[in-house]
Amino acid sequence: MIDLLSRHIAYPLMERRDPHKRMAAFHELQQSARLPLPELRARQRERLRAMLNHAERHCAFYRTRFAAAGVSSAATDIEAALRSLPELTKHDVREHADALIADGCTRASLVEARTGGSTGTSLQVYFDEACQAARNAAAMRSDSWAGWRPGLPVGALWGNPPTFDTWKSWARNTFYDRLDFLDTMNMTPVTMRAFFERSQRRPGIVLYGHAHSVFLYASFLEEHRLQPAPPAAIITTSMMLLQPERAVIQRVFGTRVTDRYGCEEVGLIASECERGSGLHLNIDHLYVEILDDDGAPVPPGTEGRIVVTDLMNHGMPLIRYAVGDLGTPTDRACPCGRGLPLLERVTGRIADFLMRRDGSKVAGISMIERTLTKVDGIRQLQIVQDDIDRFQLNLVAAPTFGAESERELRAEFAETFGPAAEVTITRVPEIARLPSGKFRFSVCRVPATPRDSA
Ligand SMILES: [Zn+2]
Repeated sequence: MIDLLSRHIAYPLMERRDPHKRMAAFHELQQSARLPLPELRARQRERLRAMLNHAERHCAFYRTRFAAAGVSSAATDIEAALRSLPELTKHDVREHADALIADGCTRASLVEARTGGSTGTSLQVYFDEACQAARNAAAMRSDSWAGWRPGLPVGALWGNPPTFDTWKSWARNTFYDRLDFLDTMNMTPVTMRAFFERSQRRPGIVLYGHAHSVFLYASFLEEHRLQPAPPAAIITTSMMLLQPERAVIQRVFGTRVTDRYGCEEVGLIASECERGSGLHLNIDHLYVEILDDDGAPVPPGTEGRIVVTDLMNHGMPLIRYAVGDLGTPTDRACPCGRGLPLLERVTGRIADFLMRRDGSKVAGISMIERTLTKVDGIRQLQIVQDDIDRFQLNLVAAPTFGAESERELRAEFAETFGPAAEVTITRVPEIARLPSGKFRFSVCRVPATPRDSA
């Protein structure tokens, strides 16, 4: 019943009020995915030129940067012009946020996203509302490839879920978003069983969440011989989906997993389609480069650093933004026939889970996101769990990190892991990198972690 109300009443009503025409953008993206690649590339170049032109004219940061590199958005070969620019680092974004924001926009007039991200680096980025609508539409396109359609209920395995404590937010959620949560900060047998029972009463549910959290949930169901009704879709995101984990999820639910990759800073970067043969790059909205350590594009089949130019965010243009992940491009075409090119795989995101005394798991990514967004003055945080009650926090502090921040940080750990948790905070100038160049933000050394058994 709610399915019908949602699809035929709530959706049309909400979309009529949507000034940015998100549904229209979604249908347009469905069509464009079918265009031949050369046509998509030509349109991408036009959008790239328009974005570089906008940034050159309206952002103090890029005026300086373009001039220093001798780059003009009027260049004949706009892609070569782009490649002459230095990459934009997280450090650049943190230190020059105001100069990156376009003339006529302010932090207050834009949508803010604060991210812990896969690297454990706190970062605030801003984007305009039209860009937000475009990002939502791109996510909906990816959802639809997975089997979602407007009006279906969603079960999200996610950290720090929102509460629907006003009538308006409750009504919106009940009839439109239709979200139910399993909080990945609190995955216990009790919460997982309750989520399972609620999900069983919601036919056609779409499961959505951190890849490893969905795996943990599937493993729990299997272990307790709980047989779920097959979901309409399973969408995994936010961290690398390990193949053995995918196999378990598909076995338990009897539904194909659709994996996708993106980040707060630029939105959806790439997504599997129903064929699951690599991830289609979202070149409608992004210009994606995969580069070696010297900044040259890697050939197909070779791993490289993912560098993204956002073609939609006019509020705070991000040009050649180094996301901090590794991926492998391919020149294979997808058997689905869509023109959007493929990323063979993302290789750079593996999150470690932390463990509580009672054996329940805490997603490291959620713990990091929570502390970075709640506690003032943390630039980077790495959690190393040496023993069940012993945590070593390697912390890169901003000048605003003080006694109160430290108290709050300790309180977060006591709340999550119990009063016995011993927390040692070590200030470090930077978090040590892995040989791959990635940061590992959460390391669990307690034996028999899910990571060891995966
Ligand atoms: Zn495809």
